[in-house]
Amino acid sequence: MRQVPEGDNKRSGHPAALFQFDGFTQLPNRAYLINKVESSIAFYDEQEAMIALLLIDVDALSRLNDLFGIDIDDRLMLQISDGIRSLIPDDALLARVGNYQLAVVLEHMQTPDAAERIARQLQHLFSEPFSIDEHLFYVTSSIGVSLFPLDADNAYSLLKIAENTMRRIKREGKNLYAFSHKYSNESCKVQVQLMRDLPSAIESGEIFFEYQCQYDQQKQRCSGAELLARWEHPELGTISPSTFVTLAEQSGMIGPMTVRALAEASTMFQSLESIGRTDVSLSVNISPLFMMSKDFIETVRFMCEHYALDAQPLHFEITEETLIDYSDTLFETLETLRTMTIGIEIDDFGTGFASLRYLMDLPIDTLKIDRSFVEGIDRDSKKRLMYKAVVDMAKALNISVITEGVETEGEAAVATMLGPVVVQGYFYSRPLRADAFLSKLAAEQF
Ligand code: C2E
Ligand code: CA
Ligand code: CA
Repeated sequence: MRQVPEGDNKRSGHPAALFQFDGFTQLPNRAYLINKVESSIAFYDEQEAMIALLLIDVDALSRLNDLFGIDIDDRLMLQISDGIRSLIPDDALLARVGNYQLAVVLEHMQTPDAAERIARQLQHLFSEPFSIDEHLFYVTSSIGVSLFPLDADNAYSLLKIAENTMRRIKREGKNLYAFSHKYSNESCKVQVQLMRDLPSAIESGEIFFEYQCQYDQQKQRCSGAELLARWEHPELGTISPSTFVTLAEQSGMIGPMTVRALAEASTMFQSLESIGRTDVSLSVNISPLFMMSKDFIETVRFMCEHYALDAQPLHFEITEETLIDYSDTLFETLETLRTMTIGIEIDDFGTGFASLRYLMDLPIDTLKIDRSFVEGIDRDSKKRLMYKAVVDMAKALNISVITEGVETEGEAAVATMLGPVVVQGYFYSRPLRADAFLSKLAAEQF
């Protein structure tokens, strides 16, 4: 049996360590790997960029035992692990995470390239036979790769994602490797760059906000606007908000980005006041992740007090996702926002699978009916019925409605007929830069 090098064997000391090594190969096991990756994540330094987890699943070794003796599978795993050890950096962790599964953890990577290079070398390793006694064994494998922080923020999920990726690639053939489905290697590099650039882009104003009018059909003028974040990256061009909002959520930058939006809203309220438009509300999108964070209320309170937002018609847009499994804490958070006179709007209403009970229980001011209920409403009678039912329900509950994504004259006409409500969409106005938005509002007739 392989001699475990000194220092490699951490069995001495803590008795729990006994359960963290595989008996045959002496390699760290799944529990050890999870602990190790968790502690690396805890001490993770943004500059060190990435951790990769490569899960190597070896095909059908168990049947070999019937032919060559009971421990041939373990002996092969030992040979394979020695082969892998010779290919990976000294400080990489190699663990046996299942009977026929090994995992490699690479840390301190600036890009996913190193992980890809090693995955390729491992592929090559399996193209040669392994020899035990006088026998040669051709063994195939499938390798799934997951990356921290792009794929997940904890060790358990990283391992799960690598396993799922491995299973996917296994169906496609033998001796293949794949990165998690979310990122090709190329887009992965871009994501890493974006994640790194995010903090300064928020700080410097490279990420800015456009304003999309919410048009009141009864008053026939703009009664509010939604702030929509924009990022013109100097090298990569326009980055879609869905991309960078997700990255901001994953990297803990969603709080600072929202603080920026609130500061912008405060400036815009002052500009609106200067053109005599104190009747216009501003809506800021609030990510569920930020809202659930422990400093959410304190941050909002600070912004309200220091940016004089408490005297303004400020609204928060939260998605139904935030309300799934809502708890007393969520109720209290919403109540606290209400005491700060912040209006609560449910964004993308009808898409989030939340129980409608929340409409009775929670302090909700507005439903924003999602575009999917409005698209083609002038041609689809079922959609009209659904839409009307939602508008009527909101009315009965004394909740106001904003209809999102109205693009055509036909859609606008039907929304007016069945409403009338406040409408937001390209038909009325595209999202506009601050100065264009102010000019538009200044020009509206009373
Ligand atoms: P959302 O909150 O549902 O925002 C509405 C999206 O619909 C915006 O896309 C807007 O430009 C687009 N839209 C408006 N009118 C129309 C229309 O008539 N037709 C169509 N097809 N689309 C229309 P955008 O700006 O790309 O934002 C996408 C998502 O990114 C937003 O969806 C929101 O979830 C998120 N987001 C944007 N800014 C922020 C932000 O500051 N904070 C947070 N947490 N999320 C943001
Ligand atoms: Ca929104
Ligand atoms: Ca929406």
